[in-house]
Amino acid sequence: MVTTDWQSDLRKRGYRLTPQRQLVLEAVDTLEHATPDDILTEVRKTAGGVNISTVYRTLELLEELGLVSHAHLGHGAPTYHLADRHHHLHLVCRDCGDVIEADVDVAAEFTASLRESFGFETDMKHFAIFGRCGKCTADAAKAES
Ligand SMILES: [Zn+2]
Ligand SMILES: [Zn+2]
Ligand SMILES: [Zn+2]
Repeated sequence: MVTTDWQSDLRKRGYRLTPQRQLVLEAVDTLEHATPDDILTEVRKTAGGVNISTVYRTLELLEELGLVSHAHLGHGAPTYHLADRHHHLHLVCRDCGDVIEADVDVAAEFTASLRESFGFETDMKHFAIFGRCGKCTADAAKAES
């Protein structure tokens, strides 16, 4: 849920958590992996007058403030998280579209070797890893046998 921490945090930085911003933040919190369109639909349940450009502008601001962050889970629009909940990478199943959240630690060896070889700091959270989930793999094996 949206805590008052955000309010005081924003105020300290000279921003006010207006009702619209609050609604967008709450939608990001409730929906998880929501696109701007999803967020608009959710926000409109409470505030009918909000339009998509307001949602984009608000997301941009909230991201600048470090409250939300985005990830790309496919070809479409980015999806949004609360920044403090986004410590996972996304495994996206090509067959069923399921999104599995894996702790960034599972890629620790990989990112360490990139750091060692290239001095590169890898951001594993920004883009998804595509493949086939366990269930779909099992289903496919069944269909073939
Ligand atoms: Zn996620
Ligand atoms: Zn991006
Ligand atoms: Zn699947």
